[in-house]
Amino acid sequence: MSIKQRLESIMSTLPEGVSLVAVSKFHPTEHILEAYNAGQRIFGESRPQEMAAKAEALPKDIVWTMIGHLQTNKVKLIAPFVSLIASVDSDRLAAEIEKQAAKCERIIDILLEVHVADEETKSGWDIAELREFIASGALEAMPHVRVRGLMTIATNTDDEAIIRRDFQNIKSIFDELKPTFGEQFDTLSIGMSDDYPIALEYGSTMVRIGTAIFGARVY
Ligand SMILES: *Cc1c(COP(=O)(O)O)cnc(C)c1O
Repeated sequence: MSIKQRLESIMSTLPEGVSLVAVSKFHPTEHILEAYNAGQRIFGESRPQEMAAKAEALPKDIVWTMIGHLQTNKVKLIAPFVSLIASVDSDRLAAEIEKQAAKCERIIDILLEVHVADEETKSGWDIAELREFIASGALEAMPHVRVRGLMTIATNTDDEAIIRRDFQNIKSIFDELKPTFGEQFDTLSIGMSDDYPIALEYGSTMVRIGTAIFGARVY
């Protein structure tokens, strides 16, 4: 199947209101263009330099989403153009995004990345730390940062019960936090190539799919 065919087949399974981030990390710009020409506009990248180089080379109406762990000293590379930073996992990173967004006179949408998976290596806030950060009021002093919701990566396992547990967990936290943020808090980003059909059952509004569109990545 071509990239266009895979994209269309995935799109046909997504309910109204669920957006698709085509995860193009490690794939060349020609593949992104193929998806773009099939109508896709939202692309996800995990490395700031790679995203900046692709953004420079590709059509300007692409909506760039940062999904990978972001070091604070790299925020400035993407602040002028990035639409959404989906992997905000520390107060320091949020503060740096505020600073760089202010410099660019922009408001940058973010998702708070929550750690619910079994693997200790995965990034994201522990739930208790996230509650504490939100309660601290730090975000209220960040007018150039708009919190749109939550993101997580489920445990990497074939055990569907564990994946369901992870998605149920994040859905509960999402529902708990929503009243704090109100209307703007409308994005629950869960679901990747292998688990997005399950994520949709737990209220995903934004799936992030790479392999199932572009094939295996060559690192
Ligand atoms: C790489 C990546 C994806 C896409 O994974 P696939 O299994 O290729 O669909 C989604 N989300 C994040 C955070 C990623 O790093």
